Amino acid sequence: MQVYFLGTGTSQGIPVIGSNHSVCKSVDSKDKRLRVSVWITWDDNSIVIDCGPDFRQQMLTSGCEKLDAILFTHEHADHTAGLDDIRPFFFKQKSDIPIYGHQRVLESLRKRFDYIFETENKYPGAPGVQTFAVTNNEKFKIGQTEIIPIQVNHGNLPVFGYRIQDFVYLTDVKTVDVSEIQKLKAVKVLVVNALREEPHHSHFSLQEALDFIHLIQPERAYLTHISHLMGFHEEVQQRLPKNVYLAYDNLKITL
Ligand SMILES: [Zn+2]
Repeated sequence: MQVYFLGTGTSQGIPVIGSNHSVCKSVDSKDKRLRVSVWITWDDNSIVIDCGPDFRQQMLTSGCEKLDAILFTHEHADHTAGLDDIRPFFFKQKSDIPIYGHQRVLESLRKRFDYIFETENKYPGAPGVQTFAVTNNEKFKIGQTEIIPIQVNHGNLPVFGYRIQDFVYLTDVKTVDVSEIQKLKAVKVLVVNALREEPHHSHFSLQEALDFIHLIQPERAYLTHISHLMGFHEEVQQRLPKNVYLAYDNLKITL
């Protein structure tokens, strides 16, 4: 399995528009973060988790040529606003793109991208999707592989993370119920969000993310959904425990 970090930034991305913050002005490419998403490939499968406003640029930069599915974590714009840009995959693959998410998320997409879901007199240039509602504690399959949804809390909003074999991707987490922890047993690679050092009402701070990693004990952990307030990549990485890494855009890892 290969995991390609398409974007590792929080909702505004880094640099933030109009910001004079030193991290936003950094010339280190690892301090430039698009909105959060990963591209995962294994066997013949090629999927992304989330489809934010930087999706087009991320597909061009990564060289992704095939999209078998999008798994959505939740409906916030930094995770969904790029949905229209699946059009080249839809035209090339000549079939509706499967999208997976909580029923609430699918309904939100249906409202905001009504023309994509139109069944009568649909504009021919619009893409098509096939929707699959994800329910907690119900595994589903992509190709021959079981995907396990993991329900976590983004403040008061339930959000899905996903386990694919020994890989777990969790973003926009603030708290995790004890009942979900067992789904993370024996995970090799854990990706989890860490916003900044200061606490936040709906995202893990750095310390909260590190405490969570300590609890789960993966072989390796990668932090994502990072704010410019976290600091420079180079400096933050030096302070992290062994086997914990600050992810950065275009990082590729193999499991
Ligand atoms: Zn987010």
